[in-house]
Amino acid sequence: MFNHSRRNLARWFTLSMGSILVVFAGIVYYVEVKDKLKALDRLLYDKASVMAAGVQYDLRQNPGKVDLSHMPLLGSGSHPLDKELAYVRWYNAQGQVTRFFGAPPPEQLSVGPGFLTVQLANPLTAEELWLREATLPVEGRNEILGYLQIAAPLTEVQDGFFQFRLVLTLAVPVALGFIGLTGWLLGGAAMQPIRQAYQQLQRFTADASHELRSPLSAILTNAQVGLLVAAEDEPSWQPLQNIVDSAKSMSSLVNNLLLLARHQGQLAPDSLKLIDLNTLLKNLAAQFTKVAAEQDLTLTYELSKFPLEVQADPDLLLQALENLLANACKYTPAYGIIHLRLSAQVSWAIIQVIDTGIGIPEADLPHIFDRFYRVDAQRASESGGFGLGLAIAQQIVQAHGGQIRVASTVSKGSTFQVELPLKPHHSELL
Ligand code: ADP
Repeated sequence: MFNHSRRNLARWFTLSMGSILVVFAGIVYYVEVKDKLKALDRLLYDKASVMAAGVQYDLRQNPGKVDLSHMPLLGSGSHPLDKELAYVRWYNAQGQVTRFFGAPPPEQLSVGPGFLTVQLANPLTAEELWLREATLPVEGRNEILGYLQIAAPLTEVQDGFFQFRLVLTLAVPVALGFIGLTGWLLGGAAMQPIRQAYQQLQRFTADASHELRSPLSAILTNAQVGLLVAAEDEPSWQPLQNIVDSAKSMSSLVNNLLLLARHQGQLAPDSLKLIDLNTLLKNLAAQFTKVAAEQDLTLTYELSKFPLEVQADPDLLLQALENLLANACKYTPAYGIIHLRLSAQVSWAIIQVIDTGIGIPEADLPHIFDRFYRVDAQRASESGGFGLGLAIAQQIVQAHGGQIRVASTVSKGSTFQVELPLKPHHSELL
């Protein structure tokens, strides 16, 4: 129970801290990429400005005629401006390409002025190249002379992206490992006081129940002696009988509480014995056939063809199964059928107690294994139970490394299924 909570704490701690870490790394990466793009845009703009300064035109003599011969990279006697540029294109005022350097452009300018990230296929290597492209209008005195489009590879930003991915794939799992470990240690520290308080409570319940047993049995014995003496005296007989009934009921409650307090968690290995479930269930069926017959019920049973052995504390396991069978008898009206079945599935022994009784409403099913939970007050007062039988059965089965399930339909009946781990060599035989 505590380890389960500790694991959950560590898991949630790792998940939340891990998400914060990844989101934080994402924000840092986003800001970094944005900064790099801004710097590249500024550089492209500066280069475009230097190139645009080489454009010559004469509005008076030949309006619209633009002379590009002195422009770096595009002019005839041009000098290289920068080897880093992937392409430079000049589009006239109507958006038609007139000169270019680098990758062949589309005939018509298809994008508006501004900055864009584009992908360019390298015809030689068939690799995709990411570029940052700037399209800037070049203006004369009163009119647009044309559009200058230049592009540079995004290598630096891509490198940043590669580094980020590297960090994500290497550093994040390592960081998550550390966070998980921290979560596990913190969970352990947080569980410590709760574990201590719980153990104290268990010890108190065990001690109190133990101490109550002696006075209760003294009350019971004295009341029973009183009953014998007052056998002929009707007025004093009934109160004494009430004392006997109450003392019996209290002593059963105290025994149940003691059982719950003592057998919390896994059982000590030396209390476990190798038990053949076929034999155990056969004896149990014989015992309950009589109980069932007294209530006009029929008990049938079906055992396994193979010997099914489990490591168990025989008394405790018997107690758990007795609780289930006693409930089946309690909550099945006369002429009903109770079926006890033993089978095996892979490495598990499956014990089913099936009845044709009153069933359990669906809303109550998740709670019936809780301590002191009873489906309704009327049933409880009729059956005289305390609501501990199933809690005890579940605790015992879980202490054996098994689990208990229930399926039930109101007015049709219930099936309680106990699953216990088989001794290892059985799973190989099945
Ligand atoms: P109780 O001592 O009251 O029987 P349990 O813990 O054994 O307490 O059972 C809890 C509740 O589950 C009971 O009050 C009963 O209403 C319901 N229940 C248990 N077993 C059966 C069953 N076989 N058929 C119908 N109801 C059941």
